[in-house]
Amino acid sequence: MTQTKPEPLAPEDFAAAVNRLVLTRWGAAALVAGLTFLCVHALAIPLPTGPLLGLAAGLAAYNAVFTLLNGWLERAPGLERDQRVRWYRRLVLLQVLLDWVAITAFVHFTGGVTSPAITLFLIHMVIVTALLETRSPYVYPALATASLCLVAALEGSGIIQHHDVLPWGAELHRDLRFVTAPLAFFTIAAFASVHMTNLVVVRLRERDRQVSALLLASQAASSSIEIDQVLDHLVESVVRALSAKAAYLRLLVETGDHVDLAASIGLSARYLDHGITDVAQSQIDREALSGAPVVIADSQTDPRVARKQEAIAEGIASLLAVPVLGRRGPLGVLHVYADKPSFFSPAHVTFALSVAAQGAAAIENALIHEHLQRAERARGQFVRTVTHELRSPIAGTLSLAHAMRDGLVGELQPEQKSMLARMSARLSALAELVNDLLALAASQSAELQESPRQVDLLSSLRYVIEQQAAESQAKDVALHLEAPATPIIVEATDQGLARVFGNVVGNAVKYTRRGGRVEVRAVVEGTSVVVTVVDTGIGIPEKDLPRLFEDFFRASNTRSSEITGTGLGLAIVKRVVTSFRGIVTVRSTIDRGTTFTVTLPLAAAHRSASGVLPDGATA
Ligand code: ADP
Repeated sequence: MTQTKPEPLAPEDFAAAVNRLVLTRWGAAALVAGLTFLCVHALAIPLPTGPLLGLAAGLAAYNAVFTLLNGWLERAPGLERDQRVRWYRRLVLLQVLLDWVAITAFVHFTGGVTSPAITLFLIHMVIVTALLETRSPYVYPALATASLCLVAALEGSGIIQHHDVLPWGAELHRDLRFVTAPLAFFTIAAFASVHMTNLVVVRLRERDRQVSALLLASQAASSSIEIDQVLDHLVESVVRALSAKAAYLRLLVETGDHVDLAASIGLSARYLDHGITDVAQSQIDREALSGAPVVIADSQTDPRVARKQEAIAEGIASLLAVPVLGRRGPLGVLHVYADKPSFFSPAHVTFALSVAAQGAAAIENALIHEHLQRAERARGQFVRTVTHELRSPIAGTLSLAHAMRDGLVGELQPEQKSMLARMSARLSALAELVNDLLALAASQSAELQESPRQVDLLSSLRYVIEQQAAESQAKDVALHLEAPATPIIVEATDQGLARVFGNVVGNAVKYTRRGGRVEVRAVVEGTSVVVTVVDTGIGIPEKDLPRLFEDFFRASNTRSSEITGTGLGLAIVKRVVTSFRGIVTVRSTIDRGTTFTVTLPLAAAHRSASGVLPDGATA
């Protein structure tokens, strides 16, 4: 397996590592002092008490300084992340150096090369390799071995004093054969421990990186329907997680025999500039599309690499290609490139397959979304065409019926009159349905809507009240508007507001019996305007309220009544109000009346300017 470079540690990881080192060192200082005391007084081992206690005190002293420094670094304001990491690195290096000096001194005071404390070096080495980012983990065992050899040489030659601690013979430290053996075994143990620890740590960090990359990829795949962004994100995460050089994703075109570039990272435009590629020409794509991952250990010698010269020029030494498999078959191929030969391991293949699976899910979601949008557009188009075709003949027939009813083509018999009246009523209901269908199609399609701008809500309300005046007078229903004198500016369209309030006020008049009342009130509340339309009409059964805003829904009490309607008005109201970022709600008591409330946000610039009229003022 090719080892990847360890990922640089984050400041938080450094802080945690330093904290652990500091904690271990407190233990070490206490142990040095405690063991010295025990050995000298209980076991009568002739240890140099003064230097050893001095060493314990020294350990504790520099540990206290590092505790303070670490705390300061954790809290230091105004330090950039990179600066913080640099400081941590210096701090850690200094600690490791001091520890190394302390252990060397401890070994010297406890018998030099004959000391049983030599193994302490090993513990420290494993801790440092496991906790910290180690670019060259073998420097430390090399230094430790060198310092041990130095102590052995200085003691052996008598330049520094040798402390005879164990009863192994006073002159053993001068015996080259005796000195070489522990030194040789120490060296082997030191390098082996560091090597093994480093292998495990690098592997763990790599896994860690892959898991977070996969998590990010799956979040991106499920959170966004912008397919281009999702695919860009996927190729980026595969390159980052595998520490690879580049990656690109090609998707099968509809005919299924060519692949086209969908996303790439780390490759030159020259390399990518091949347009749609015939799958038959690329053995790697063919193999991958058949469902099996392809690992090319050396792109210069493998016959499956078709564009060898270009790959060499691009610095591609090995590659991995995995299929992007959808629920109904392959959707494309994900290629990952490395600048070293034999880079990709089975673990890399598994990871790339997982990323490709995320890609497949995202692509399929996006395709479903696109199909839905297309279907929605087609539906809108269908409704518009049909209703346009119906509108003119209905209007024409209706005016002919009115002309006949008014006697323009001769006197009519009472029976003929009644049939004509029924015909006109049916045609009017049909015209209303066609208009509502058109309005519904318009409210569903962005292309048919004007973009919202700043408009005065009150002028729309006044217009609607005027429109309904004749109908309400004919029914003897009192219709009142209560609103501030100053304009109420919202982000909307005049046409949209007229449709919303035309429907709600029109319904209130329509579903209120003779002699009833309809009150329309507009009040500014905080950053919104609240319009309530209160009637004393027939009300809506409670069980019907949750479905009131559905397309074609009519409450049970109106379905059985003479009052005609399409059940589309409120569905349109809801869509239009939502498109203006507002909400519409309803409360109703059967046979007592209904209140519709439309709340719309005020246009940003007018939020504090609008006033509220005193109670009872009528515009
Ligand atoms: P319609 O064309 O039937 O009026 P709407 O979508 O405008 O369709 O309204 C849906 C249903 O809600 C109506 O059929 C009616 O049952 C009920 N409704 C709406 N407004 C009122 C109201 N003010 N009073 C009583 N019922 C109402």
